[in-house]
Amino acid sequence: MFFITYSYGTSLHEVVGWYNRDMDTIYFRFTRRRIFSLLLSTLFALTVSSRLQAAPELTDGSIVIGRSVQGRPIEAYRFGTGTRKFVVVGATHGAPERNTQVLSRMLIDWYREHPNEIPSSVRLYIIPVLNPDGDVLDSRQNANGVDLNRNMNTTIDDCSDNDWDTTVFGAGGVVSDTGGPYPDSEAESRVIRSFLLDASAVVFLHSDAGLVFPPSCDDPVSIAFAQAYAAGAGYEYARYWDKYPITGGMHDWARGIDLPAIIPELLTGEDPEFQQNLAGLRAVFHNTAVLIPPLSIRTVDDVPMPLPIWRFWQAYGSDMLGPPLSTAQVADGVYIQDFTTARIRYDSAAEFHAVSMLPTPAFDASGPIVEAINPDQILTNPANPFTIHDAFARYYLRTDGLEMLGTPLSDEVLMPTNTDPTATQVFEKGVIRYDPQTNSIIRLPVVWESVATASLIASDLPFQLR
Ligand SMILES: [Zn+2]
Repeated sequence: MFFITYSYGTSLHEVVGWYNRDMDTIYFRFTRRRIFSLLLSTLFALTVSSRLQAAPELTDGSIVIGRSVQGRPIEAYRFGTGTRKFVVVGATHGAPERNTQVLSRMLIDWYREHPNEIPSSVRLYIIPVLNPDGDVLDSRQNANGVDLNRNMNTTIDDCSDNDWDTTVFGAGGVVSDTGGPYPDSEAESRVIRSFLLDASAVVFLHSDAGLVFPPSCDDPVSIAFAQAYAAGAGYEYARYWDKYPITGGMHDWARGIDLPAIIPELLTGEDPEFQQNLAGLRAVFHNTAVLIPPLSIRTVDDVPMPLPIWRFWQAYGSDMLGPPLSTAQVADGVYIQDFTTARIRYDSAAEFHAVSMLPTPAFDASGPIVEAINPDQILTNPANPFTIHDAFARYYLRTDGLEMLGTPLSDEVLMPTNTDPTATQVFEKGVIRYDPQTNSIIRLPVVWESVATASLIASDLPFQLR
């Protein structure tokens, strides 16, 4: 896997301001309509591979699961080898909640000495510091001044009162514009979004309200999870955080991908409260069967998806990715499923980045090259002859282009279409086009076209056009 870094002509915040002013034109919606129906085979069982791939960048028993805005490593420590991934996240709020980092490091030491406390079905990951820049800069926010527990895309859950906003309530109910320029805009938000797609349950540690609460949208598992942890730790259980509204919170985002989640708030901002939280985790481990459930299947439009692939589809934009075209193909614990604009891959043995996108079929884009208008908005890479500029560059940054599109395979060209020539650009993992009818940028249904063509050539494939 090669990730290429693009440098941008202006600072992120200048780019971001432009985004906010143009948000409505930039924001992209896929027109949801059934292009064709598919004949489906029977449901497949989701099997999770027990082989664990050796993780790169091993340091002191930890794996580096990503990097902060300023490039600091975000580390996770693994204990146990069970199939159910259980994640504890510390120091999302950096320096003021440093006792959650101290607690996380004490738990790491504890489970290193007492590995038998991990149930055999569980694989525990502890991330001591999700916000390493905030820790170093003595801040609650990350290096861009964004509150990471207000930056997640919470429009994907079923509740509207917690939806992401730039203006947020922070610690003590103080109002500020620290939600970020758009949902999931921050490097740290994207790291945790990717890391949790194949998790069975997650604990987000905070301080200092002295209570444990589940997501605001009802979820029986998360409620039982919070109650068990609270009872074990001796903290108060609260069905809702009622001090002020939380928008873009990680627990509510987790609800949107059907991931059981809780927020324990330590009593103070100084004491790690180790014994209490160890007892909270023991209470959860005591009921692993219910509180840390195995991964399952989600069915959309009669098409079953392995849960991690469904979560990716939810979290990265189901409208943008289009409907699923067929059931997943599986071999040796690796699932590959086609959507109209993308191919998604889930490796059940991967320790991180378990769900990703594969290259899409070849697409020939030819026509006059569209020159950049604004010299400050050009993404370039010394190792790649093509640039991404203006509206396409803004789209690329906003949608996590490295993940969703990969590297460009063409320049932006004016391609002949049925109507007028239209700006189009081909990338490793998808093709984007400016759509004048909706004044937005869309991903072309290149995977659907490839599948439809193949089905016309070979009529014995397990799908057919109706
Ligand atoms: Zn906090």
